[in-house]
Amino acid sequence: MSETPLALDPGLYVTATPIGNLGDITYRAVTALKNADLILCEDTRQTAKLCAAYDIKTARSPYHDHNGERVRPGILEKLQAGARICLVSDAGTPLIADPGYKLVREARNLGIAVYPLPGACAVVAALSAAGAPTDQFTFAGFVPAKQGARQTFLEQIKNAPGALVFYESGPRIAESLSAMASVFGATRPAIIARELTKLHEEFHEDQISELHAHYIQAPAKGEFVIIIPPAQAIAPTALDIDGFLTRALTSMSIKEAAEAAASALGISKRDAYERALFLKGRK
Ligand code: SAM
Repeated sequence: MSETPLALDPGLYVTATPIGNLGDITYRAVTALKNADLILCEDTRQTAKLCAAYDIKTARSPYHDHNGERVRPGILEKLQAGARICLVSDAGTPLIADPGYKLVREARNLGIAVYPLPGACAVVAALSAAGAPTDQFTFAGFVPAKQGARQTFLEQIKNAPGALVFYESGPRIAESLSAMASVFGATRPAIIARELTKLHEEFHEDQISELHAHYIQAPAKGEFVIIIPPAQAIAPTALDIDGFLTRALTSMSIKEAAEAAASALGISKRDAYERALFLKGRK
C-alpha cells in the first residue's frame, strides 16, 4: 500500500534519529523524513542505513562541520523559497555535540520556521536509567583530548550544580577517568553508560579509580556517557557507608579512608572514622 505524502509546512525540521537501536525513532520523524524535500545528513552513508530500514526515499545531501560555511547559503535560500528540509546527525539529536547550530541560528535570524522533532539523545537515555539524581545536571559534552586543556576543563566544571555528564569514546575513556580521579577525587562515585540501546549495553557504577582500573585492565570499545552524581546527593545507607569504607580500607589508612568516605558520601569525618575503626576490628 503506498502512503499519501503528508503536507509538511515549509521550514527546517531538526530531526532526532536512533543512538543504536533502529527502533528508537518517532513516527513523526519517519513521516517528516519521508515527506521532506531534502534530508541534510552529517554523513549520508550513515543516514542511508536508516532510510533503507524505513523505506525513506527522500534526497540526501551532506551538512557537517567541514562544508557548513560553503553550503549554508544555498540551504537557507531553499528554505526561504518554502522548502521542507530535515536536518539529521549520525545518531541522536542534532546540535547535541553534533553539527547544526549555525544553520538553526541563521534560519531563525531570517525568520524561517525551525521545528524540533525530539527523540533519542545519549545524555538523556543515560540519565534516565542510571539511578542518579536527575533534578539538576550539567552536560559538559566531550572531555578535551589534551592533558592541560582536560585538567582546566574539569577544574572549571567541578563545582557545577547537579550531576556532571560527559560524552566519551572507547579509546579515551581510561585517560578521562584518570583525570577525573585527580580532579573530582579517586573515591567519588561515577556511572558509566556504555553502548546504550545496543547489543552490549551496560551500566557500570563504582568509584572513579575502580572504573579507571577496570578500563585499563579490560579496554572496552564503543560509546560512553560518564555520569558523576552530585556529591552528597542521596543520604547514604549504613550499607553504602560500610561498603565504601571496606573498599577504601583495602588500600588506605583508617584516617584516609574516613576522609574519603566523608567527602564522597557527605557524612561527618568523625562518624566515618568511628565506623572505619570498627570495621578494622579495633573497636
Ligand atoms: N547527538 C548525539 C546525542 O543526541 O546524544 C551525540 C553525538 S556525539 C558526536 C557522540 C557521543 O555521544 C559518543 O561519543 C558518546 O559519548 C555519546 N553516545 C552516542 N550514542 C551513544 C550510545 N548508544 N551509548 C552511549 N553513548 C552514546
